[in-house]
Amino acid sequence: MERNEDKQIFQIVSEEAHQLGVRAYIIGGYVRDTLLERPCKDIDIVVEGSGIELAERVAQRLKTKVSVFKRFGTAMLKKWGIEVEFVGARKESYRSDSRNPIVETGTLEEDQKRRDFTINAMSFSLQAEDFGKLIDPFGGEKDLEAKLIRTPLDPDITYSDDPLRMIRAIRFATQLQFTIVPESFEAIQRNADRLHILSKERICDELNKIMKSPKPSYGFQLLYDSGLLEHILPQLCLLKGVETQEGKGHKDNFTHSLQVLDNVAETSDDLWLRWAALLHDIGKPRTKKFEVGIGWTFHSHEFIGAKMIPDLFKQLKLPLNEKMKYVQKLVGLHLRPIALVQDTVTDSAIRRLLFDAGDDIDDLMTLCSADITSKNEMTVRKHKRNFELVRQKLIEVEEKDAIRNFKPPVDGELIMRVFNITPCHAIGTIKEYIKNAILDDGVENSLQATLPLMYKKGEELGLTPILTLDQLLKEFSDN
Ligand code: ATP
Ligand code: MG
Repeated sequence: MERNEDKQIFQIVSEEAHQLGVRAYIIGGYVRDTLLERPCKDIDIVVEGSGIELAERVAQRLKTKVSVFKRFGTAMLKKWGIEVEFVGARKESYRSDSRNPIVETGTLEEDQKRRDFTINAMSFSLQAEDFGKLIDPFGGEKDLEAKLIRTPLDPDITYSDDPLRMIRAIRFATQLQFTIVPESFEAIQRNADRLHILSKERICDELNKIMKSPKPSYGFQLLYDSGLLEHILPQLCLLKGVETQEGKGHKDNFTHSLQVLDNVAETSDDLWLRWAALLHDIGKPRTKKFEVGIGWTFHSHEFIGAKMIPDLFKQLKLPLNEKMKYVQKLVGLHLRPIALVQDTVTDSAIRRLLFDAGDDIDDLMTLCSADITSKNEMTVRKHKRNFELVRQKLIEVEEKDAIRNFKPPVDGELIMRVFNITPCHAIGTIKEYIKNAILDDGVENSLQATLPLMYKKGEELGLTPILTLDQLLKEFSDN
């Protein structure tokens, strides 16, 4: 019980519970994180009695509003940026054929039993007589010290009651860098196919938490080893394994993808860049070929992979918005920077990449650098050095030509005005011509340099200007 604000809240809850004649306890994540000395924003209060009634009284004392969820018997209030949730203690069991729990009111101990893990089942008393006392019937504190994830009951019961707990086990193991005890892990393996009764949204939340952890590969490896990944993202499982023909093997693309994910996680907290890292080679199984005399190839796997992204996002219930487009773009472009390593690379190729990546160029470079993995340290170092040269070239060209946020200096409005035309195909043709001249031929990205090109292309297309170049230049210099 660290912060002052928290203490004030607990004091008030304690007093109001006493007034109401009910017993209240802090439970779950707050207790765990306090013992771990980790920051924790949310507070869960469990009440032997009505959680809603207590929440309403506490809210009044704190002069804040309360949201009541009658159907779930819970209530939530916010104060000083802290979320406090109240719930009546309950015992519950899910019938195996249904997602709907049978819920009955219960005691604190019964409520602790239906929690997912021993480390999440501890509580602090809020009764005046033993205020702050740790109530830990399942050895959660010991498990915290030993860094173990263990269920309070027989794991087969805990996991089959709510299969989400299997993913949560892996999520907490990954976030906290804990180990799942063997009997629990074996129970996950046995119950993996129960995942199908869950809503995709609940799974997605947990996956994103695994993704945001310091070393997300740990979680994805556990998902794979437990058999859960097969039910969540079978496309990623297909990357597993090494095939050999004529004595030639390829790398295990699953292990490689996890390595790239961790490499990215070391330099960036961005959830979507991390998703891009995990999925960057997702197109490989579909494009894999053994070519005699050459070996294993994965031609166009970046384009196939990029095409797969919308369906994967839909399947995982990840958002179908600009985040999806961003991941798709990075997957599609992930080989481009590496291709620029050769000395012969032209400024034009660099400008094209800057143009295609736009503001995502830095993230693309992070991904691409993370993609350099090899068992041979020397090889990695050599590639990274070459890669630094590409980075340098990108900076030079960007400074010179400002392509990254490239907006063609000549827009459709201007073309229509000069040639006195309404929207038509010719406008796109002229714009494309100017864009290519800038990207490929190094024409300066300015009005002065590109206006003559507009006239040239327009006239080629049979258009007649009603304003001369001189008139136009004068107009711009007057403004
Ligand atoms: P965080 O909020 O940091 O992710 P947390 O432990 O608070 O961690 P929540 O998902 O907010 O996790 O859940 C709060 C508490 O509710 C947990 O500590 C646990 O006791 C209990 N809990 C949550 N989900 C489940 C579940 N599916 N089965 C059993 N108990 C659960
Ligand atoms: Mg929480």
